Amino acid sequence: MDSRQGRLFAGDDAPRAPWEDDELRDRLVAEVAFAEPPFGPYDYAVPEALRDRVEVGRRARVPIGKGERTMVGYVTALAAAGDRPRLDWRGPLKEIRGVVDARPLIDGNLMRLARWISDHYLCELGVVLETVIPAAVRSQAGTREKTFLSIPDAVWAQRDNWPLQARQRAILEALAAADRGLTPQELAERAGCSTASIATLRKKGFIVDSVERVLSGELLDRPEQQELPPSLNDAQQTAFERILSPVRAGRHETIVLHGVTGSGKTEVYIRAIEEVIRRGKQAIVLVPEISLTPQTRQRFRARFPHVAVLHSNLGDPERNWHWQRIARGESQVIVGARSAVFAPTPRLGLIVLDEEHDGSFKQDTHPRYQTREVALWRAAAEQAPLVLGSATPALETWQRARSGQFTLAELPHRVSGRPLPQVDTIDLRAEFRAGRGRGSISNPLHDAIRKTLAARGQVILMLNRRGFATSIQCPACGYVARCPDCDLPLTHHKADATAVCHYCDFQLPAPDRCPECRFEGIRLSGLGTERLEEEIHQRYPGLAVLRMDSDTMRKPGSHEYALAKFRAGEARLLIGTQMIAKGLDFPNVMLVGVINADTALHFPDFRAAERTFQLVTQVAGRTGRGSAGGYVLVQTFNPEHPAIQAAIRHDYHQFATQELPGRQAFGYPPFGTLIRMIVRGESEPVSQAYAEELGKSLETRLAHRFRQPPVESPFGPLYSGTAGRSAAHIPGSAPEGTASRGGAATFRILGPAPCPLAKLRGRFRFHLMLQIPDESANAARTVIREVLRDLPEPPGVQSLVDVDPVDML
Ligand code: ADP
Ligand code: ZN
Repeated sequence: MDSRQGRLFAGDDAPRAPWEDDELRDRLVAEVAFAEPPFGPYDYAVPEALRDRVEVGRRARVPIGKGERTMVGYVTALAAAGDRPRLDWRGPLKEIRGVVDARPLIDGNLMRLARWISDHYLCELGVVLETVIPAAVRSQAGTREKTFLSIPDAVWAQRDNWPLQARQRAILEALAAADRGLTPQELAERAGCSTASIATLRKKGFIVDSVERVLSGELLDRPEQQELPPSLNDAQQTAFERILSPVRAGRHETIVLHGVTGSGKTEVYIRAIEEVIRRGKQAIVLVPEISLTPQTRQRFRARFPHVAVLHSNLGDPERNWHWQRIARGESQVIVGARSAVFAPTPRLGLIVLDEEHDGSFKQDTHPRYQTREVALWRAAAEQAPLVLGSATPALETWQRARSGQFTLAELPHRVSGRPLPQVDTIDLRAEFRAGRGRGSISNPLHDAIRKTLAARGQVILMLNRRGFATSIQCPACGYVARCPDCDLPLTHHKADATAVCHYCDFQLPAPDRCPECRFEGIRLSGLGTERLEEEIHQRYPGLAVLRMDSDTMRKPGSHEYALAKFRAGEARLLIGTQMIAKGLDFPNVMLVGVINADTALHFPDFRAAERTFQLVTQVAGRTGRGSAGGYVLVQTFNPEHPAIQAAIRHDYHQFATQELPGRQAFGYPPFGTLIRMIVRGESEPVSQAYAEELGKSLETRLAHRFRQPPVESPFGPLYSGTAGRSAAHIPGSAPEGTASRGGAATFRILGPAPCPLAKLRGRFRFHLMLQIPDESANAARTVIREVLRDLPEPPGVQSLVDVDPVDML
């Protein structure tokens, strides 16, 4: 039917939808998303003059609201007006005013990935894009504007009709012969003339110019010395072949590479990457930030000529330069932390996540994405295999390998027949009862340290608490130094004589007498790395000791410097927090001591046992890597705890087998999706009331949604069962004895309750936890969006959503 016909009946002033008008239906409509409120995305008409320049992935300047205000946003989709009948058409769309970028910042694949992250993690698309595209790329760091000259086709066609001097003709010919636009200097060189004669032709319109941004100066990437690869052992070969088949077939598959520490996982990745490169594709290798040591960089650079290593100390021009090279397909391998999952590879052939269980793969600010899941989605969308490597895979990963969703490859032994180190526990209760409780180093550990040093070996001691003393208390009046903003005890730092809040960095000069009762004998208790170092100096005078924690590693590069020193043997003993538990490979380390294995064991977090298991297993793996063998001593008050027992036996399977049933019984990941909502504000009652309101509304709507039999589902009734709401299992909340009503719950809301960190940076915090089966999680996301839309935050209160949370505090 002729669409114009319809207008006769609609009346003249009825607005016409674009698809009702032949002239309009071919016009382009752009969807634009913003990184700041009002976020959008909104639709804009693309004016004819900008038609060639408006593209998905470029930014555009558009009008916002009623006045003349404009904002820059990302063009996230383009469609002919006729194809967007979902538009709420109220008169003409506003038009895009201008285009910011000369070319798209990201391609369609990354745009789709960003959209998925936005949906999955409940984060505005514009905010996601700001994370995907580094600031250095947005600002085109290290580029400058250059003018490029060219001849319009019409001029060239008419060249014989103009009265031109021979020199001018030569200039035009040189320009026409070039396969790209030339800068005035380049043209002058090629035509053998001055830039002044070129200027004359420009003025007359024979030559036109355009301005483009180009990278200023090339940075060199120097390949390191090439290295002879070891030949793979049988287990490595089998694992390699598992990865090879999807690489060769160019299809997606996820392979879990479970290999004990020192089993040669990296060598397997490298072989697989070689095959990827042979096929003309690119590989992304993701490692925890802390593992981006020169050792890792060197290892990849020694094997591949074109490696981009993206670490946090890169300057903006360097970062932009790498991004551009990757996007042109010139970098074969990209090694980087979390955000390298967004590397703009045009031909993705493989993603590797090394130490895939590591907590740093979860981003703790908006968008709160889990790199493992993002990598999985991206690899599936781009038909690339994904390798998840670890000695202690996350249970989320392990369960998927067990269920057959992922393929499992195991490296049960260390390379070259080296044994895993023997691990023994030291029962700190017995030490205490025997009256040997002085200091933090038990007698057996002390003996082992002495023997190791005598044998010229090196020692690593791990204590996962920094500072000197974790509590500052007056024994006379009971005063405890606390953070005024977080209400948590301050940690004493001796080196700069301060009392520091480890959650917000609030600092006081360390009190030498009680601020309340003026008593002079303030007591420092609780052990931190700084105090451990002092104790070591007293016990082993003259020993070269190195301490690595976030206090001593503040300066960029200090991490590398310290590790180089330890490698060279300039320090014999290394003290550190968990930052030393990962990835380090020092053949001369013959003893590892864990000062207190229990620091993470009693956290109000359903992953507390898993964290403890991972930490002890990983730090134990730092020894016995050379021919001299290794020994590990674990000091603990809970030697019989299953997580510690499994760790001392290097028995991941045992750990997983005993841990998974508990997760299943309580509906925790990997058995169901967990979504945490945090409400924070300066007023405790207002924040709490809002959290309660959110909880009630969420419960009502979820109950409504999941009890309703689906009307048109071909799969039969999808939802049944009842809802439950309780504070019983929310970590950190006082159990109130109200278990979830109705038995087998389809979903469960825990809380709201005060967060374990009930006050942070002056704001009171409440949280609630939604547990829901994976297959209903998307519907729950929709409900959460509705709830947040319908219940705006009261002034001074903020809410945030954390999907698949890792931080439970
Ligand atoms: P993982 O990543 O599993 O901890 P690595 O890949 O770092 O282990 O390997 C540990 C060491 O063993 C490295 O120095 C590596 O070069 C070496 N290595 C790897 N595979 C073999 C092999 N098949 N034979 C001998 N040495 C090997
Ligand atoms: Zn604080």
